[in-house]
Amino acid sequence: MRLVELRVTNALPVLDERLRGTKFVALGTRSILNSPTQTGMDFWSLNPYVGCEFGCSYCYARYAHRYVVERAHDAGKLSDDQFREFRGPHGWEAFEQRIFVKEQILAALERDLQRYFRSAGPTGRPSDTIVIGTATDPYQPAERRFRLTRQVLERLARCEELSVGLITKSPLVARDIDVLQRVQDRNDLEIYVSLITVDAALIRRVEVRTPLPAVRLRALRRLTAAGLNAGLIVAPVLPGVTDDLPRLEALFGAAREAGARFLHAGPLRLYPAIRDRFLPVLEEHFPELATRYRRAYARQSAAPRTYAAALTRRIKRLQQRFGFPVNDGMRDRYRPRREPAQRELGL
Ligand code: SF4
Repeated sequence: MRLVELRVTNALPVLDERLRGTKFVALGTRSILNSPTQTGMDFWSLNPYVGCEFGCSYCYARYAHRYVVERAHDAGKLSDDQFREFRGPHGWEAFEQRIFVKEQILAALERDLQRYFRSAGPTGRPSDTIVIGTATDPYQPAERRFRLTRQVLERLARCEELSVGLITKSPLVARDIDVLQRVQDRNDLEIYVSLITVDAALIRRVEVRTPLPAVRLRALRRLTAAGLNAGLIVAPVLPGVTDDLPRLEALFGAAREAGARFLHAGPLRLYPAIRDRFLPVLEEHFPELATRYRRAYARQSAAPRTYAAALTRRIKRLQQRFGFPVNDGMRDRYRPRREPAQRELGL
């Protein structure tokens, strides 16, 4: 990261800039832990950054960035010109180029942990997992400098009997093996290295700046070799692009070789906020699939149930074949409610 110049907006200090135009902006934070009630998810979530330089075209977190930008504008922290700049010409660029760095994160975490423990009731032991990195990558390039994720982990390492999950595409996670070991010594920890295929050329069509597959698999190897409870998450599986058996077999085999202790997978959810970004990428690289996607996802964000069910069956068979646990953890979030009506995975 090259420090170009420090400038201050009305109320959102620019902490750093890159030559290609990415800005890192300080965002005051009163709360950092989101409860299941706030998000509608089954677990508590924590994201040190808003926006992500990795820029995956299927990323569903762009809406959260837009919300933060609109709120800052409404609060008078962004001028109209800055608001336009922070939205970008199509609305999705800013997610990758204007990264909010949450400040006072430890004070916010301290308050939120009290709230979290109060939610446990008389037992004093919340059963809900805290997942780090549900909306943006906690080890995206900004973490190299700002070290927010490491600070959070240092604090969680002082807790006991928590259930903690962490999702990342970055090998930078291996930098924190020492503190992750301390978290795991006193808590349940699951680290998910995220990878949708081992095909590096294919990755570059749908993920702009992510670390290449071999780099992520090496990081996974380092984590498991250090005794950490780490595995692979394949999210999303892209229908017609990454769901064929040879690609999935290669991915499962690579995970096995890297010592993964589990492997979870789920199909693409095409939320409205993703369509503007992902469908043009699909048109460009997989034009034959674009119409099928539009039809299959016309009425809902989730993959068609028959497709999701068929994929689940395929994943389950592969989990059994490659010696991974079946039917546990995050994979269950993708469990379809209906039996598949067809054998193939066609949309
Ligand atoms: S790494 Fe994760 S958070 Fe970042 S752009 Fe990709 S999917 Fe979104």
